[in-house]
Amino acid sequence: MNFATDAFSLYARPSPTFAAKLALSREQLRAAAAHGPLGTVLLANSLGAEDMVLTHLIAELDLPISGFVLDTGALHAETLALIERIAVRYGQAPQVFKPRAEAVISFVSQHGERSMYDSIAQRKACCALRKLEPLERALAGKTAWVTGLRREQSDARAEVPFVEHSPGKPTKFNPLAEWTQGDVWHFIQANQVPYNPLHDQFYPSIGCQPCTRPIAAGEDIRAGRWWWEQEGSQECGLHVKQES
Ligand code: SF4
Repeated sequence: MNFATDAFSLYARPSPTFAAKLALSREQLRAAAAHGPLGTVLLANSLGAEDMVLTHLIAELDLPISGFVLDTGALHAETLALIERIAVRYGQAPQVFKPRAEAVISFVSQHGERSMYDSIAQRKACCALRKLEPLERALAGKTAWVTGLRREQSDARAEVPFVEHSPGKPTKFNPLAEWTQGDVWHFIQANQVPYNPLHDQFYPSIGCQPCTRPIAAGEDIRAGRWWWEQEGSQECGLHVKQES
């Protein structure tokens, strides 16, 4: 029996309409770049496979969209190493935003390092201080941001639009909304895009170390994220639907 051991063997299968999807994504990235003055349109780069595709496309199209990373203080070393690999390959590293040290120290001393497993409320409190607050800082004064959200990723993301408008907030562009996991990995393979080596070890979706595990054959692609919680609560809050 042949056991596939790399992400390309596991996932790279372009859909029949891949070329059309790619053309549309390029159009949407151009639209995002034109949405605001220079320096006000950003890529939220989680260092996941989708955001590596977007990093490549933005560089290929030479668009004035710079990236930022939320370094929660709990990422895998393999994930953090991608920041330098992006700089080497594309000539510019994403800007790194970290949580406020005093907030993390206070939270951990009060609740411990593993309180995310105690309750959804504790887990969301950790996400709020390590992700949401730094995201707010990253997006302050910006006009638009680009994400790698895809409808296929989960039920909660099944209706992700290409563009989300919300009063008082930056416009959100999701150029890969229609892409499948197979499309993403086909693009990465075809263009030799750098990616997190953990994807070769059955981690299709990677977040913070305590909240990510590899998945077994047949499990859902998001099954390795917050696996101890019920489906439906498994979002960190970065991508809750923007109410208008
Ligand atoms: S994903 Fe886990 S470790 Fe990361 S911020 Fe959320 S609860 Fe904390």
